[in-house]
Amino acid sequence: MSRFWSPNVHSLTPYVPGEQPREQLIKLNTNENPYSPAPGVGSILRDFRTDHLRLYPDPSSHELREALARTFGVEVEQVFVGNGSDEVLAFAFQAFFCHQQALQMPEISYSFYPVYCNLYGITRSALPLDAQWRIDLDAFSNDAGGVVFANPNAPSGHGHTRKDINTLLERIRDTVVLVDEAYVDFGGESVIPLVAEHDNLLVTGTFSKSRSLAGIRLGYAVGSRELIEGLERVKNSFNSFPVDSLCSAVAIAALEDKEHFEACRTAVITTRENTRQRLEQLGFDVLPSQTNFLLTSHPKYDAAQLFVGLRKRGILVRHFNTEALNNWLRISIGTDNEMNSLIEALESLCA
Ligand SMILES: *Cc1c(COP(=O)(O)O)cnc(C)c1O
Repeated sequence: MSRFWSPNVHSLTPYVPGEQPREQLIKLNTNENPYSPAPGVGSILRDFRTDHLRLYPDPSSHELREALARTFGVEVEQVFVGNGSDEVLAFAFQAFFCHQQALQMPEISYSFYPVYCNLYGITRSALPLDAQWRIDLDAFSNDAGGVVFANPNAPSGHGHTRKDINTLLERIRDTVVLVDEAYVDFGGESVIPLVAEHDNLLVTGTFSKSRSLAGIRLGYAVGSRELIEGLERVKNSFNSFPVDSLCSAVAIAALEDKEHFEACRTAVITTRENTRQRLEQLGFDVLPSQTNFLLTSHPKYDAAQLFVGLRKRGILVRHFNTEALNNWLRISIGTDNEMNSLIEALESLCA
């Protein structure tokens, strides 16, 4: 508490990201990609003209947005970019969700959503997941102040089909539906093709997970021109240059290498399913996952204790201190070697 803070700063509850440890640990706690970015990224960094950094970057990030538009088969005016999808989400909450009516979201989803609500004074309505830990799409209503969810969802891992979400969009036409596709490349079905039909659909994505570029901080949104213009208005009232020139060049190189992208995401999916099998052999319950992590719980061993035991063995996973998730661990998918170490450590902890 400080007498110097603006009044609403006292009541903020900031998001706490997974730990970025200083010591060498097998890091399976923040869903980073275990593989290097596309080789073209290395050439960009080696050849980048230092003198170029004198200049401000293009405030509209035109070239990068063009590359994304090509990738997704949309117009450049339908693409927005920002400093991580977290920033894109923050802009979207401000641009579309500051209404009288409550913003609807699943009770269990990305824990940054309630934080933005708090920041912008948005009332929130949290809807329970169904018995299989799936989002109940029928529970969202057209008269809400907006709808936001991650698809596939985090940390539950389940993803709805494009057809399911299309049915939702046929019913919800008067408020913005934001679908956060941070994990879609690991087995989900993107709803970007639905943007052409639904002017209230905003889809966000990130370079942090499937593109192995969490360090550059780049996220994007795809939607109708009207929605993208709303985001631009907020962005240009906040920071004209959220995406720097080095970041743009790196991201374009990453987008161009489709082969590397396919190889990495396929490897993660294969390792995920092997890991699932091995966890189940150890008696763990493992939720189905279309993401680069597994949410798992053991009927006999306490998740908090397993977390501590793994950490002592040099392996960092994510444990959430909430009632619903207290006995679950979220384990990011690393390389096969890293997952071998994880399984060995769990074997000794569950012996
Ligand atoms: C990781 C994650 C993000 C944030 O991505 P950045 O681009 O790194 O900010 C957004 N949404 C969900 C659901 C995530 O898991």
